[in-house]
Amino acid sequence: MEYQLPRLTKMWTHLERQAGGKVKGMGEKQIEVDKRILRTQIGVLKKELESVRKHRKQYRNRRFSVPVPVVSLVGYTNAGKSTLLNQLTGANVLSEDRLFATLDPTTRRVQMKNGSEFLLTDTVGFIQKLPTTLVAAFRATLEEISESSLLVHVVDISHPLAEQQIDAVEKVLAELDVSEIPKLMVWNKVDKVTDPEKIKLEAERREDIVCISALTGEGLLEFCNAVQEKLKDSMVPVEALVPFNKGELLSTIHQVGMVEKTEYTENGTFVKAFVPLRFARLLTPMRQLCKS
Ligand code: GDP
Repeated sequence: MEYQLPRLTKMWTHLERQAGGKVKGMGEKQIEVDKRILRTQIGVLKKELESVRKHRKQYRNRRFSVPVPVVSLVGYTNAGKSTLLNQLTGANVLSEDRLFATLDPTTRRVQMKNGSEFLLTDTVGFIQKLPTTLVAAFRATLEEISESSLLVHVVDISHPLAEQQIDAVEKVLAELDVSEIPKLMVWNKVDKVTDPEKIKLEAERREDIVCISALTGEGLLEFCNAVQEKLKDSMVPVEALVPFNKGELLSTIHQVGMVEKTEYTENGTFVKAFVPLRFARLLTPMRQLCKS
């Protein structure tokens, strides 16, 4: 709309022509009316965006108390992020072949067979250069990215300009200052490429790349395992003695971390696991208990 505002000028000249010049100025009045409508709508949308941002912040703060790792899907528009999210979680995120089908960041919970889980967030697609007026609109999403435990870069490997799209996304990521966050690259749409075997070999040759088809479901298990492995990198090993009256902590450890060993002792449950750093801090008193 901000793009449209200064470009309305020539839209209504046909009115003057139709009226044979008798009602000169009619078109211009209409332009003023249109501009006013646009400005009001822009104002309303800006307010809405601000409330989205506040809402997301509150939601993130709440999520902080149960530190389930957050995995953000980033990637070029149409790479297949929403399709992947839908396949993994059955969430009904809008999946369309057009620009910006997802403006609102959408988070879903992915549960693995081994009991651990992570939150998967679909983010808006990056295009070559985000127009500055749009950056405000994506702020909620961008903030979300900087707080995730892992970034999954989804690539449409069947696209003739895949390399350029990868570069464009990495450029935007560099601007976001997220270099500390571990990354995993996913080559999507392997069902669509002419020589899938060649692509898979190439992916194997490089590190940290998983080949999938979000559409057919091929490679999704490998994808989840790779996510788990990567998340483990960002976790810390802990050994703790959890008292029996803190049973809920045990289930949280299973949810957010990766348990290697549990043992029931007289004084509580001994756990050896990898957990997110924030959660490890929560366990500190019990870790001391374990040492003594
Ligand atoms: P997003 O913009 O990254 O969220 O992309 P979408 O998930 O909306 O997908 C864009 C288009 O690519 C849709 O028409 C999907 O059906 C299609 N698509 C996504 N994944 C695959 C895939 O693995 N194979 C094929 N052939 N098409 C896919």
